[in-house]
Amino acid sequence: MKLVFVTGGVLSSLGKGITSASIGLLLKSRGLRVSIIKIDPYLNYDAGTMNPYQHGEVFVTDDGGETDLDIGHYERFLNEDLSKRNNLTAGQVYLEVIERERQGKYLGATVQVVPHLTDLIKERIREVAREYDVTVVEIGGTVGDIESLPFLEAARQMGLEESSFYLHVSYVPFVKSIGEIKTKPTQHSVQKLREIGIQPDALIARGEKPLTPEARKKLALFSSLPLRAVVGAHDLENVYRVPFLLAEQNLDDLIFEKLGLGIYTDRSLEAWENFVERVENSVGEVSVGIVGKYIEVRDAYKSLIEAVIHAGAHLKVKPKVELIDAIRLEREGTRNLKDYDALIIAGGFGERGIEGKISAISFARKNSVPILGICLGMQLMTVEWARNVLKLKDAHSEEFQPNTPHPVIHLLPDQKNIDRLGATMRLGGQEVSLREGLTRKLYGKEIIRERHRHRYEFNNAYRDSFEKSGLQIVGETRGLVEVIEWAEHPFYVGVQFHPEYTSRPLNPGPLFVGLLKAALDRK
Ligand code: GLN
Repeated sequence: MKLVFVTGGVLSSLGKGITSASIGLLLKSRGLRVSIIKIDPYLNYDAGTMNPYQHGEVFVTDDGGETDLDIGHYERFLNEDLSKRNNLTAGQVYLEVIERERQGKYLGATVQVVPHLTDLIKERIREVAREYDVTVVEIGGTVGDIESLPFLEAARQMGLEESSFYLHVSYVPFVKSIGEIKTKPTQHSVQKLREIGIQPDALIARGEKPLTPEARKKLALFSSLPLRAVVGAHDLENVYRVPFLLAEQNLDDLIFEKLGLGIYTDRSLEAWENFVERVENSVGEVSVGIVGKYIEVRDAYKSLIEAVIHAGAHLKVKPKVELIDAIRLEREGTRNLKDYDALIIAGGFGERGIEGKISAISFARKNSVPILGICLGMQLMTVEWARNVLKLKDAHSEEFQPNTPHPVIHLLPDQKNIDRLGATMRLGGQEVSLREGLTRKLYGKEIIRERHRHRYEFNNAYRDSFEKSGLQIVGETRGLVEVIEWAEHPFYVGVQFHPEYTSRPLNPGPLFVGLLKAALDRK
């Protein structure tokens, strides 16, 4: 078994996720079968109950896991589906250890963090890693955090048991007032790592500016590393370029050597290169507004924003993505929406901003602005149509008005008596059958597979009224409405699933391509 452990130093939010994904891509490009695991040391069981303000978007895997958004980066870079097993949290391992204790499985032993918790962590890593040539294990948080200690200890132990590579991603700030790069915080962080018993095999120095030769030398000396094992990674405008930055400094060769990965095959990165170039060199702009409520945190709509970028690269156009505050639309009206070539109504939960989203939908419907409604967005397209086209006064979703006279979106019976919030939604990949229409044309097939995360559904009692008035139901899963379309509009599509989770640089989501194309045609 071959493992690459990625730890973080000095600060969080250094882009360890992108670094891990990039290493995954580089190793894969040399013919290896690669997986990536994210360890989140928080006590939540999974990201499912977390507010996007806390932790950005919740990424949904095909097998229904509600995971950290880094899993999204991994899938996009590896161009592969991962599983909920790829996101391990402290909550999961603590719960399992206590469960085993209650079952009497520890045979009277005193149950401890070492070895019982660390053994379970290792077991979980091995369950995934056993099926691949190399597995990258990213340990969330920063060295020195109390809660990440058991995971670092497990990583240390695994170094004795499996061939392992330790990569420390640390912050190397550029101090403006003196115009110098400072290595001290990273020196301390490497010392902290050594205290735990881990000597890094390579260091990634993250900072605003490219690493200077002097700083590299200092870092190498204090970390007991050869110069070539200190890799500079300055901020890049286009994160999809990070694999090239690491490749130029031959980080993958270093990993090959230490892990004894054998024969060197050349990297094959042509398709990736082609994509990166399209992102950078596309001409013509198209402005896309994402109407949501978590607009202060761009990470809350991570996959959505990336999906628009993928579609832009595919069409060789530069998308300008802006987040539009639904609550502001309620206060200030929809006048400014005329500046956008296309609108996306994002998914979400809770009442805040609902009427703002509905007003944006009205605007797009009346002014022929291409619009894609996703999950909650699709549900609100239904509400807007019911109120304003079908003239069903006070029509709403039961989520926001349980006593509405016209519950055009309602709770399914199997969602009615749920007494806990974690992992109880309709989750994960399911097959959707498409009838003739724009969506089927864009996907180019009748059966598609897309991921879900919601409790409420289109109410079939209203189906005929919708269809008679022109809003067509063109996608279904076992009687549940999945796709609505209005053919007399340049692009008016609502989907109950989340197409952004499966959009990849090398495999852009067809609905996003369709939306941008409609926007371009209209310009
Ligand atoms: N709140 C809605 C539901 O639960 C939509 C969820 C979403 O947009 N992901 O059905």
